[in-house]
Amino acid sequence: MDASKNFDAIVVGAGFGGMYMLHRLRSMGLTVRVYERGGGVGGTWYWNRYPGARCDLESMEYSYSFDDRLQQEWNWSEKYGTQPELLRYANHVADRFDLRRDIVFGTKVVSAHRDPTTNLWTLTTDTGGVAIARQLILATGNLSTPQLPKIAGVAEFSGRTFHTGRWPQEGANFSGRQVGIIGTGSSAVQTIPHVAEQALNLTVFQRTANFSIPAHHGPLDATMREAHKKKYNEIREAAYQTPFGIAKYGSPTLSAFDVSDEDRQKTYEDAWKTGGQALLFCYTDLLTNKKSNETAAEFVRQRIRDTVKNPHVAELLCPKDHPIGTKRLCLDSFYFETYNRDNVRLVDVKETPITRIEPNAVVVGDNVFEIDDLILATGFDAMTGAAKDIDIQNGNGESLTDHWAQGPQTYLGLMVAGFPNMYIITGPQSPGVKSQMILSIEHHVDLIACLIQKLHDENFNSVVPEALAQDNWVSHNTEVANSTLYPAAASWYMGANIPGKPRIFMPYVGGVRQYRATCQEIIENGWRGFEFA
Ligand SMILES: Cc1cc2nc3c(=O)[nH]c(=O)nc-3n(C[C@H](O)[C@H](O)[C@H](O)COP(=O)(O)OP(=O)(O)OC[C@H]3O[C@@H](n4cnc5c(N)ncnc54)[C@H](O)[C@@H]3O)c2cc1C
Repeated sequence: MDASKNFDAIVVGAGFGGMYMLHRLRSMGLTVRVYERGGGVGGTWYWNRYPGARCDLESMEYSYSFDDRLQQEWNWSEKYGTQPELLRYANHVADRFDLRRDIVFGTKVVSAHRDPTTNLWTLTTDTGGVAIARQLILATGNLSTPQLPKIAGVAEFSGRTFHTGRWPQEGANFSGRQVGIIGTGSSAVQTIPHVAEQALNLTVFQRTANFSIPAHHGPLDATMREAHKKKYNEIREAAYQTPFGIAKYGSPTLSAFDVSDEDRQKTYEDAWKTGGQALLFCYTDLLTNKKSNETAAEFVRQRIRDTVKNPHVAELLCPKDHPIGTKRLCLDSFYFETYNRDNVRLVDVKETPITRIEPNAVVVGDNVFEIDDLILATGFDAMTGAAKDIDIQNGNGESLTDHWAQGPQTYLGLMVAGFPNMYIITGPQSPGVKSQMILSIEHHVDLIACLIQKLHDENFNSVVPEALAQDNWVSHNTEVANSTLYPAAASWYMGANIPGKPRIFMPYVGGVRQYRATCQEIIENGWRGFEFA
């Protein structure tokens, strides 16, 4: 066999997940090949270059912890890292750990077929490459497959079209242009204020109003940064003990109705001034009790009404169809204020959806909105899109797409029954997208590395979850989700943004602390639920 095609492990994707996986496996002495569709490292931060793109967790937390020298030497300049800074950070990590020599860029993995007799995976790529490995790690990302709206005429639009998740590297100038944007989720909330400042006019087509909280961005104070660094290990460990893996937001102790109306209002006002996700962490039951949730939701709606001068527009911007926090809570910088500008108009496409797109216009019912440029902030085929985009066959007559026909099924979000030696970093039914993701990525990478080390140490050929263990985990996941308000929203967590996608609540919302304890207990019980052969 051609040695250049044979590896101990193949990793698909070179975002934060794939990069750390490569480093971890290489330091175990394994030969590794990484395939990355993009032209560089960074995943999310390579692709999402739209104006205003930032993380919405503070960078001192949203960063790697696996190497102390790395976290000590890197200096974040702002509270919430901008896309360019996050991409610089990813490139710094790639340089520092010499990652690029094992990554093949500009190459999409199109198939992964397992041979059940040899237990080897053979991968093919869109450039005609073939590679073979015993271990296959999908670091393909939860938000990496952009969703294009199925609107009549969208392909015939004659102006420039942009998707926020595939923004051109050279950027885009909207000066003097009439711009339309479809979507008002997290990416749109970040993009809209920037485009509004540049464009001749901006028309926002909104199907669902979303809750957004001021981020209160700003430069990161050097003294605070250094103080944080001194306690880095403590803070990282504290994060693991919280529900969402964010040390800044510990677990609240009181229910929203344990306090008086005045005290609650004051607590929300303080959280609003702090900005970020603080509001969701005010009370224990904001995500489990509808009435408690409504107190926070109404507080935010009132802030929207206070900010937006036109009462009709303000009312359209007030979310009323889902509890706050059950869709990804947006963070913004002057999002609602932007609707006070003369060059911005909001078009409600909930009641009357977009009828069609013409070469130079978006048509809604009888109204024709002329535009030069169209921005699609229409999100992603979240959590399953990238994995299902690869033809994965387990060699026993089953594909991953078949296995997941009724919705994704995994054991711990880490592996899939029937698919030996195939691992997913922060897959469905793990806390991944409901946590500080780099923390969850590191946890998963470490678990995968431990499993692979065990195979090597104990001369096993393969590991796969037991079907029953997987069934139980999936049921537990659903039970936990059903004990919360999350399923009440038609969110991408539910697959609701993709027509025809099964409606199943995909992330594990039992919390990072509980998930980590469960994994630990499973390991201590000889990796209960995993079958080694
Ligand atoms: C706009 C935006 C803002 C975000 N903000 C935050 C935040 O504030 N906090 C937070 O915790 N998380 C945030 N996230 C989530 C973010 O995706 C994760 O934090 C993290 O970057 C995920 O890393 P990853 O390596 O798992 O996936 P990704 O970064 O998505 O990387 C996956 C990579 O796999 C590649 N790939 C996929 N399929 C193939 C294939 N078949 N062949 C080859 N390559 C393939 C993709 O090109 C991509 O580069 C945000 C996401 C978005 C989109």
